[in-house]
Formats: sequence, structure tokens, C-alpha cells
Amino acid sequence: MLSEDLLSMIACPIGKARLRQEGETLVCTRCGPRFAVKDEIADLLPDHAELPEGCRALADLECVRCGDARVD
Ligand SMILES: [Zn+2]
Repeated sequence: MLSEDLLSMIACPIGKARLRQEGETLVCTRCGPRFAVKDEIADLLPDHAELPEGCRALADLECVRCGDARVD
């Protein structure tokens, strides 16, 4: 588990929204990708994110589609 302090300092690398902890993963509270946490270290690489249902690529995420975030 990550501490609340740490959680409040990190954000979704794509749209910069808050992350919430769910089991061994962090989930973006806005666009929904899931990031793995291993040994208390969050893997926040967008390319490693597990995409939410309905998204097949990072470009399908809500925050990217509405122009608040960019992915290359
Ligand atoms: Zn996000």
C-alpha cells in the first residue's frame, strides 16, 4: 500500500488527474487507466498502463480525446 501522502503527490501521467489505489494498482480517477504497483513503487509509464474497457490505445482515453492530454 502506498501512503496517502505519496498518493497525493503523484498523478496520472496522461491527464494529471488524481490516482486512487485499488489493490495492487493505481487507477486514474478521471480517464481510468490502471498502473501497477510493485514493491511500493508505482509504474507510471503510460505505455505500461492497463487501459479501461472500451479503450484500445492511449489515444482513446477520455482526457486525450477531449484535448486535455497528449500522447505521442
Ligand atoms: Zn488519467
